[in-house]
Amino acid sequence: MTQVPRPNSAAARDVRSQLHPYTNPVLHEQSGPMVVTRGDGVWVEDERGDRYIEGLAGLWCTALGFSAEERLARVAYEQMRRLSFYHPFGHKAHVPGIDLAEALLAMAPVPMSKVFFCNSGSEANDTAIKFIRFYNNALGRPEKKKIISRLKAYHGVTVASASLTGLPNNHRDFDLPLAGILHTTCPHHYHGAAEGESPDAFASRCAEELEALIQAEGPDTIAAFFAEPVMGAGGVIVPPPTYFEKIQAVLKRHDILFVADEVICGFGRTGNPWGCQTFDLKPDMIACAKQLSSGYLPLAALMMTESVYEVIRDNAGRIGILGHGYTYGGHPVACAVALETLAIYRERDLFGHAAAVGPRLQARLRDLADHPLVGEVRGVGLIGGVELSRDKASRQPFDPAQGVGAAMTRHLHAHGVITRVIGDTVAFSPPLIITEEEIDTMVDRVARALDDTL
Ligand code: PLP
Repeated sequence: MTQVPRPNSAAARDVRSQLHPYTNPVLHEQSGPMVVTRGDGVWVEDERGDRYIEGLAGLWCTALGFSAEERLARVAYEQMRRLSFYHPFGHKAHVPGIDLAEALLAMAPVPMSKVFFCNSGSEANDTAIKFIRFYNNALGRPEKKKIISRLKAYHGVTVASASLTGLPNNHRDFDLPLAGILHTTCPHHYHGAAEGESPDAFASRCAEELEALIQAEGPDTIAAFFAEPVMGAGGVIVPPPTYFEKIQAVLKRHDILFVADEVICGFGRTGNPWGCQTFDLKPDMIACAKQLSSGYLPLAALMMTESVYEVIRDNAGRIGILGHGYTYGGHPVACAVALETLAIYRERDLFGHAAAVGPRLQARLRDLADHPLVGEVRGVGLIGGVELSRDKASRQPFDPAQGVGAAMTRHLHAHGVITRVIGDTVAFSPPLIITEEEIDTMVDRVARALDDTL
């Protein structure tokens, strides 16, 4: 647990030197960080030797947990010795990039034609926005540029991807969202549905509200729709079963591209290799990152269908160049490590394991639904959310000033669990290697933290 840092401790030096993302800097100066020093399996240890179950796989990324995977370390070492850096700019290529692109295309949930490598999920979504503009300009539809995402979506923090993100703290005082990025209904039945509205009726209404927004703006002005299969950082929101079928019908009617943001759901998180398979999505582009390299190195990829690629190819050919790319996008060491990561997933049948233990996580979390503090439990596969509620009947959230989320985080730490409390929702996305026994240990500890928060 954090406490006032001792002079010249790592924590004190941190307070003096770092501005932290997603942190209240005023509180941080008072309490300092938890300095995490090592990890093994689903566990991490802080500098005082206290051990925690990492219930969020770091930031939804360390599918293989926190142990030193010798194979990945060796592959990185060997790649650094062979070719420490190269890039795909200007008709160059390197073998790890070629191999990884092939591997991604081979496992894609729908036929995809090309891979564009980036360093982060934000960059992959930014790239998608730029390619969508490029695509519609090429098709002679310069007015078809607006993009729709959803309230509570999380697509990143660069200027454009933060605009796609539908969370107030990512916009407030950053002068976002950019013009031309619109947000539609969040498919969260628990909060969004009217009294007595079934999940299917609510899904229909979400699709109608999307269609109404498209009509109000003019279908000829809407280029694309972005969605996470399960909304992660917005609070683990699982859409109603018929939601995406209805949404995709609307998109098809208006010739609107669909970008699936698989940055969290990709690589086994929802009980299938891709969230697209769990929810039967047929996207035109897929953004993926995080578990692509199990968080060992930064890497992201944007995949696109042949029909999107052809338009981009022809336009870039006409212009003479595709004027986009990141120095470190598809870094050979990151690609080599990601390839080996995918090989480990395959050899250990990690997606099969996640599918097998996912129901245990869901069942154990649902056992918490009767707790007086819990409003809703939701999730699929190895992603889950436990939403705390001030009043179960009226589904009233807590007043943020009450600090219930912060208290829950403190009690979770005291019981040896790290995860994130997003608004009122305690999020779970443990490493895919987690065992049923570790799930039980984690949820038992969460139950005790809930009791302490009460
Ligand atoms: N998309 C989704 C669904 C995410 O959850 C995240 C990060 O959590 C991003 C995009 C942004 O990825 P990054 O933080 O690598 O830029």
